[in-house]
Formats: sequence, C-alpha cells, structure tokens
Amino acid sequence: MGKKARVVKAPSYSRLVNYFDHNASSPLCAEARAAWLEASEKFIGNPSSPHRLGQRADAALEAAREELAAALGCDAFDIVWTSGATESAGMALHHLARTLDDRAEVWVSAIEHPCVLAAARERFADRAVLIPAMRDGRLDLDWVRERARTKRPAALLAMAANNETGVLQPWAELRDWCREASVTFFCDAVQWLGRLPARGLGGCDFVSGSAHKFGGPRGVGFLKCPAGARINPLLTGGGQERGRRAGTENVAGVLAMLAALQARKHSLTADAQRERTEWRTEFETALVRELPGAEIVGADVQRLWNTVSALMPEADCQRRWVVKLDRLGFAVSTGSACSSGNEEPSHVLTAMGRSTAEAGRVLRFSAGWETTRADWQALLGALREIHAALAVGEAAR
Ligand code: PLP
Repeated sequence: MGKKARVVKAPSYSRLVNYFDHNASSPLCAEARAAWLEASEKFIGNPSSPHRLGQRADAALEAAREELAAALGCDAFDIVWTSGATESAGMALHHLARTLDDRAEVWVSAIEHPCVLAAARERFADRAVLIPAMRDGRLDLDWVRERARTKRPAALLAMAANNETGVLQPWAELRDWCREASVTFFCDAVQWLGRLPARGLGGCDFVSGSAHKFGGPRGVGFLKCPAGARINPLLTGGGQERGRRAGTENVAGVLAMLAALQARKHSLTADAQRERTEWRTEFETALVRELPGAEIVGADVQRLWNTVSALMPEADCQRRWVVKLDRLGFAVSTGSACSSGNEEPSHVLTAMGRSTAEAGRVLRFSAGWETTRADWQALLGALREIHAALAVGEAAR
C-alpha cells in the first residue's frame, strides 16, 4: 500500500508566541508555502535549459513577472528577480555608479535601510548627500526643492515606508518631482508591499522588494528597473535575467513570493486597513495613558497600519523590555533587525532629531495580517505587567 500524502497545514508559529516583529521578517503564509511546495515538485528544470522541463520553469517565471508587473503598474520586461532587497539595492547602486557622471551627486534619505545607505556611501562616498528627515519621521521635501535650486542630483533614493517607525514617506511626490527634473528615482518599497496598494510604484525608475516581509520565503526579492534600460549587472556569469543578473533563478521562491503577494492583495481592502489602524490606535492610546512617560514616534503622521514605534518609560533599558516580553511570549524588536544587534543609536531616530537617550528607549511592535485586536490587547497587558513589576522594583530600592 502506498504512503498517504502528508496534509499541509497553515503555519503554527502564532500558537507558540505572539509575534510582533513582522517588519523584521513575516512568517511564511499558507499560500506561499503551498506554492513553494508545488513549484519545487512541478518545475524541476533549470529555466535556462532548452528542454521542455526547463522551458516549463521559464514560462512559470515569466508568468510571475507579468503578475508582479501588473501589480506595480510597469512592464514585465523591467523586473529582475534577486535574492532580496539588499541585493536589489546593491544592484541599483552598482548600475548607477557605473553609468552616472563622475561628479554626479546622489541624494539619499537619511532614514534609509542600511542596505541602501551603505551601498550609496560605498559607491559615491561624499557625493552621497543625505536628505534630512523631519521630527515627525517624514522626509523633508522642502529641503529637496530648496537644494535643487542650485544643484540637481543625478539620482534620488527614498523609501516608501520606514521599517523602524512605519512612517509613510512622500514617495509619489518624489517620483513625480524626479520625473519632471530628469532625476533617476530609486524607491525601497520593502515595508509597503503587501500592506498597502502597490499601484503607482511601477512609475518609479527602480523599486526594490523582498518576499519575507509579506509572507513569502526568505532569500528572494526583485528589482524593478527603468523602462527598457540596459543594466550593468552586479552579479556576472551566465546570461540569466536577460544579462542583468547572473545565477539560476529561484523558481519556487519567486512563485511563492507571488502567491504571498496575491494573498495579501485580497486582504488589502480599505475596510481591513481601517480596522487594523483602529486596533493599533487603541493600543497606542492605552499605552500612552497607562505608562507615564511613554510616547509614540510619528504619532501625528500617516504610518503603516501594522507598526508602532514607542519610546518606553525610562524605567528600564529597551533590551530588558524585549527580554521580559519574550519571557511572557511576545516577540518584539528594539528597532530594525539589522541595528538591534549593536549598541549604536538608531540612525533613523537620530535623523529625526531624537537624542541617544531617547533612541535607547524605543521599542518597535510590528503586526501581521493575522494579528487580531485581542493580540494587541494581550501585548498591552504584558507591557502593563512588566511596567508594574518595574515600579515595585524601583520602590523597593
Ligand atoms: N529595506 C528595508 C526597508 C528593510 O526593512 C529591509 C529588511 O529589514 C531591507 C531593505 C533588506 O531586505 P532583505 O532582507 O531582503 O535583504
């Protein structure tokens, strides 16, 4: 008798821990998992191989390219599959460094993810000029307009939504301004995709995205390139991706990424976003009311419905809050995943004019589509409990 096929279930992480770190990495959603398993079995050929199995894999990749292009509003030809957003940013900056004039400036937002900031600094040194952020977490558009009176950049790099604060950035205004001024515009849409509608992003010259931030697998992403551009490849070797990125494509990863994006798209209704923003706001209001000294970063501006960046009361250091929450079953972060491993104050909060002491008090809570109002309330309860215990400890000293 043949073995019975194993039943594929939805991920069960949420039963183990209350996960509030989706901006660092979102767990694989059921749709992406199913697509990955199916593609791994179905598309065994190398997409560059001439036989039918290879061509079948290639056709699946091209169909995924069409699907992503339709979501972004661009031509499928302009999309290159990558290993994630760090590679995408490296690829865009490599191309710009190779093609722009030696004296050209690139303007890069001071609150970019390190994968953009570091790649810009490495390739353009002091010709990478920082666009300042305002205290509320948004980029300073007036600074851009004012400086452009005397000097135009050749390229401008700004994200769609900030990973640490969730503050939405004026990417559409920058896209239009860049188009008018003939400036190449790169937009890191990593935290936006899967959470807010993607339409319009295709109008940016470069767009980067990463599957694991919206329920797809890790190690797969894309770079949308300027329409019809010949790209200087960062990775050289084979002629994959029409000579723009060498290396065998991750077919199952790409198909799983698209399955996750489609699944998120269905959740993206205005009502669903409104409801989740309400749960977030309810949490924030109670947090500030019940924990004296707590403050929400970017409280008065538009933010992702899933992100809360909060200055905690000075009672304890941020790392201890994280450990205590972890013990109670809540996974949260001190900021971006990359910078939480060192003790440097967050460059994002510093750029917003926050002191080192303030930056040292910030916790980030980032929810997913599966997070419920009850989960936010449970998190609030845990924070309340820790705060009360700290207050008792203080009094006993
Ligand atoms: N850009 C932003 C805004 C991010 O939050 C991250 C990941 O934290 C990245 C880029 C890097 O993405 P990846 O993990 O795909 O390299």
